[in-house]
Amino acid sequence: ARREGKNGVQVFRSSLDVAVHGQLHLETRLRLALQQGGLHLHYQPQVDVRTGQLLGFEALVRWTDTQLGLVSPARFIPLAEEAGLIGELGAWVLNEACRQAAAWGLRVPIAVNVSALEVAQEDFTQQVHATLRRHGLDGGQLKLEVTERLTVQDLQRAARQLAQLQALGVQLSLDDFGTGQSSVSTLLQLPLNELKLDRSLITGLAESPIEQRVVSALISLGRSLNLSVVVEGVETPGQLQVLRDLGCGVVQGYLTGRPGPASMWTPHLNGPLPL
Ligand code: C2E
Ligand code: CA
Ligand code: CA
Ligand code: CA
Repeated sequence: ARREGKNGVQVFRSSLDVAVHGQLHLETRLRLALQQGGLHLHYQPQVDVRTGQLLGFEALVRWTDTQLGLVSPARFIPLAEEAGLIGELGAWVLNEACRQAAAWGLRVPIAVNVSALEVAQEDFTQQVHATLRRHGLDGGQLKLEVTERLTVQDLQRAARQLAQLQALGVQLSLDDFGTGQSSVSTLLQLPLNELKLDRSLITGLAESPIEQRVVSALISLGRSLNLSVVVEGVETPGQLQVLRDLGCGVVQGYLTGRPGPASMWTPHLNGPLPL
């Protein structure tokens, strides 16, 4: 961008300036969305590999800004973390997901993504407990999907909070397992009920013997630790077939249902999913 400065001197905005400006603008818009109810949730089914039965939904936050259009959570979640907005955003997501689960009378858990920064907050357990009570849900009706991205001290604090939630029956899932965000070391440090294998591990599953062996080993790892294993990002029948052969229990992906608004799933809660 080129501008006329004082005395007619031309000021060129560096691309860094533009990036910083864009980031600030995004932050302002996100604050506004939080204040004005501009966020909503989509839900994606988690499905039993053998029976096709619905085992849960993952809630995924969506933001459509009037100026910026649809902004990906992969972009605005990290921004919310940096801008100190993640507490407010996370509280909204948790409340809305629990409200929807209660409105549906959902018998399977609703899974909510929580930022590691949130879990490390001293009052996190209290907040989750209060939200469950507000909507008359049992702990077992909620699952929290956690990723690493914590310092060691945070991880210890997070582990304590999560253990308290687990005692309430809340299920804990280690999200993005197999990526840099989520490692075997985290597995040793957090109380968990589930491992969620990242979709990057299965992109070539149908063709790649190496991917098959790695996924097979991770499924065994989960089983030997008494964790259920969910594989995300399943897009093709070929991937699904291999996962079935490897003894994977639960899948989630475009093949078995794209994320969509609650109204899209309401008619299908008690019958078979429209797969
Ligand atoms: P994630 O938790 O790993 O969620 C899975 C992402 O993969 C979602 O992207 C989902 O829409 C997408 N996905 C599902 N099935 C398929 C598939 O078959 N193929 C492909 N290519 N993608 C699939 P989304 O909704 O854009 O979310 C991106 C990330 O943003 C999430 O990754 C999660 O880390 C974060 N996120 C989303 N909602 C929330 C939230 O409410 N709170 C927090 N803290 N993070 C969230
Ligand atoms: Ca997730
Ligand atoms: Ca992932
Ligand atoms: Ca690490």
